[in-house]
Amino acid sequence: MTHDFTPWLAWLDEQHQQMLDDTLALAEINSGSLNHTGVNRVGEALVRLCQPLGGDTEILPVAPYQHLNAQGELDQFPLGNAVRIRKRPEAPLQIFLCGHMDTVFAVDHPFQQIQWLDDDTVNGPGVADLKGGLLVMINALMALERSPWADQIGWQILFNPDEEIGSPSSAALIAEAAKEVDLGMIYEPSFPDGNLAGERKGSGNFSVVVRGKAAHAGREHHLGRNAIRAMADFIAALDDLNGQRQGVTINPGFIEGGGAVNIVPDLCISRFNIRLEQVDDEAWCQQHLDRLLADINARDGISIELHGGFGRKPKKLSGANQKLFELARDCGAELGMSISWLPTGGCCDGNNLAAAGIPNIDTLGVRGGKIHSSDEYMHVSSLTERAKLSALILMKLATSSDRSWLGER
Ligand SMILES: [Zn+2]
Repeated sequence: MTHDFTPWLAWLDEQHQQMLDDTLALAEINSGSLNHTGVNRVGEALVRLCQPLGGDTEILPVAPYQHLNAQGELDQFPLGNAVRIRKRPEAPLQIFLCGHMDTVFAVDHPFQQIQWLDDDTVNGPGVADLKGGLLVMINALMALERSPWADQIGWQILFNPDEEIGSPSSAALIAEAAKEVDLGMIYEPSFPDGNLAGERKGSGNFSVVVRGKAAHAGREHHLGRNAIRAMADFIAALDDLNGQRQGVTINPGFIEGGGAVNIVPDLCISRFNIRLEQVDDEAWCQQHLDRLLADINARDGISIELHGGFGRKPKKLSGANQKLFELARDCGAELGMSISWLPTGGCCDGNNLAAAGIPNIDTLGVRGGKIHSSDEYMHVSSLTERAKLSALILMKLATSSDRSWLGER
């Protein structure tokens, strides 16, 4: 049986100006991950925008963000609330839709303004990553809700406050959703040419504290235990792991410690990131980290401690995920877009969902680029274009008689 989806897709064309206005209004609210009041303002605006969808709205406080400070102690920062909206939990097909409200631009970052680059390109903080995507998601759902097939799909939206710092506090909400849904749609920006992210690397962020013993560098040098030297040895050994295992890269990215040069330094902090491709790479890394830490800890008067972990598992494409991409490609073709999917080293909430066994596409947001920089831009024509893509995917899923492929591992 064939269905005519055109009236609801055409409705999206009429929403273009409103989608653009709403995107720019959201981008004008600073919502750096640690600006919890700004993130909450975005959350309130989204609740208003979602009102026509119906569903049950919950405002969910999340745990504070913990960050190791220059004294080697954990600071806590409050985060904005997550927003969850659920509708029709009894419907045959359950879909999770997710987009983050935070950006990488802190409240004191110079990049806070919208600027038009040409008729189709707007530069602004978070326009592509991912405030434009939030409007794509909401409007695609509105098209579904207006269509005659909405009763086939139950959905839950999660607007999370902390994706740009690795979703440490919303990860539990994503894991909770994964137990209730059949597939996920996440609204990170697509690549500038419209292609989607397929497989993704996994990632871990770590902080290290080395403590030694302070002493006068002249009179009592022999009594000191130099924390910087121990950290330097640790980092050198850590960096030497690069190239030892296919797909694993380690990046020491920050170091801080010491003070006056006439004092043997007793404290040094460093941070590093690990990317990996295979799930069992984690165990390999952990084993080597344990060995390096034990070597340093065995030194007289020196202690080393590691914080952090692998927050993002690698995203591998299951059979179901492959089929979901093929559905997106076919929908794109019907709409005159050529869509394929490429592996990427970046990570997002799609990693978490895939790790929980839920097939998902995580770049259904707008076309844009140069994200995480002051040159971030969005192609404004992609607002309706991508909303139609999502709406068509939703309507095809709603009208499909065979969804057994969703179980393919
Ligand atoms: Zn993002």
